[in-house]
Amino acid sequence: MAKVFYENEVNEGVLQGKRVAVVGYGSQGHAHAQNLKDSGFDVVVGVRPGKSWAQAEGDGLAVFTVTEAVKQSDVVMILLPDESQPVVYKNEIEPNLAPGSALVFAHGFNVHFHQIVPPENVDVFLVAPKGPGHLVRRTYESGAGVPALFAVYQDVTGTADDLALAYAKGIGSARAGVLETTFKEETETDLFGEQAVLCGGLTSLVKAGFETLTEAGYQPEVAYFECLHELKLIVDLMYESGLEGMRHSISDTAQWGDFQSGKRVVTEETKKAMQGILRDIQSGEFAKSWILENQANRPVFNTVNEIEKRHPIEAVGKELRAMMPFVKPARKEKEAVSGA
Ligand code: NDP
Ligand code: MG
Ligand code: MG
Repeated sequence: MAKVFYENEVNEGVLQGKRVAVVGYGSQGHAHAQNLKDSGFDVVVGVRPGKSWAQAEGDGLAVFTVTEAVKQSDVVMILLPDESQPVVYKNEIEPNLAPGSALVFAHGFNVHFHQIVPPENVDVFLVAPKGPGHLVRRTYESGAGVPALFAVYQDVTGTADDLALAYAKGIGSARAGVLETTFKEETETDLFGEQAVLCGGLTSLVKAGFETLTEAGYQPEVAYFECLHELKLIVDLMYESGLEGMRHSISDTAQWGDFQSGKRVVTEETKKAMQGILRDIQSGEFAKSWILENQANRPVFNTVNEIEKRHPIEAVGKELRAMMPFVKPARKEKEAVSGA
């Protein structure tokens, strides 16, 4: 069993008296910076001039260019989109990192796949909340926290573990539990989860179900409810009490159908495909394709994104959600799934 750390085991003193630069003020950045500040830590925000700069200032934080923020800080948390990190790191962070300071990430991608190679004289660790930024902020404000993973990649000061846990406590995660992992495990499981199950697996499952019903002549509105809308109710039950708890709440007919038909949809072949996805993640094949795609300005990403927006389930969903005031409009803030 993984060891889980809670607030009373954390020595937050190691982070007192140190200045933390939160680089980036997006989904995770705004939450980390504000939570750390409210926890009594010395925080500055490093961003480029523009929307984020104005927002961070409006939230009462001290804002600097990335270069300036790094120069005056002992702990540098990089919360830029993973694709933008290597360039900003090379130009503005690396030249200004003091020996003995700490370089921190919320996802291991760039370090694990060597897109960022930290110098040997700094601590390197990650603190990855297992939830989107708005939740990290909202749960903190309500007195709770989002669980997090932490991992130490390089420990030159001998205090990297303590610093990581103190940081996790500062953003509220130690209220919920902080689990130790490695950069390799965090990166590979995060990518696998979002590709095979949470994002890739789920959107494909929903579309295939919707297409099967509408191609057989059923009304798209009814297909939408059965294959997308009701998912939330099922997932909430699974989240609260596992598969058994969910099955306790559904009808026996639904449960019998679950037992008979689930394995016809997700077959041994599907599992083999998942193993292939995992191999491509482990070998660096997936990372390479994503890095190249970004270097070419995302031709495939942008095309597929446009095609996906035109899927019939989107039009019917938009209409139906407009008639359901209890369904809140989609959040404006970009939310990755637990480190997505
Ligand atoms: P966002 O996409 O929300 O980050 C946006 C921020 O980065 C903005 O402040 C933006 O500034 C700034 N930015 C973007 N490009 C540049 C650039 N080229 N130069 C300078 N600033 C730039 O990131 P996330 O919060 O989603 O992700 C941050 C990290 O956290 C990633 O490593 C991610 O994997 C990890 N993570 C994310 C989770 C999530 O729920 N989102 C969950 C757990 C981990 P501007 O306004 O000027 O564009
Ligand atoms: Mg039903
Ligand atoms: Mg991720």
